[in-house]
Amino acid sequence: MAKIILLVLGLLLVYWILKGYRRRVDGAGSATPSAGTEDMVQCAQCGVHLPRSESITTQGRFYCSAEHQRAHQSGRAAS
Ligand SMILES: [Zn+2]
Repeated sequence: MAKIILLVLGLLLVYWILKGYRRRVDGAGSATPSAGTEDMVQCAQCGVHLPRSESITTQGRFYCSAEHQRAHQSGRAAS
């Protein structure tokens, strides 16, 4: 009887190890590609490069912040 309990415990241990290992591999795999494939855009005001998802887009132009979006548009209106 003790052998069966040991066998079940052993199988559970292997199952837990495999489950934990797969989760670690999935976590590492999903973390890297998003950073490498993201489009980089340039702020129309200060020229800094930033990921497209972090930029503000207005009329086909990209800005690093709402402040620069406002500054660039008011600057164009004044001149
Ligand atoms: Zn900027």
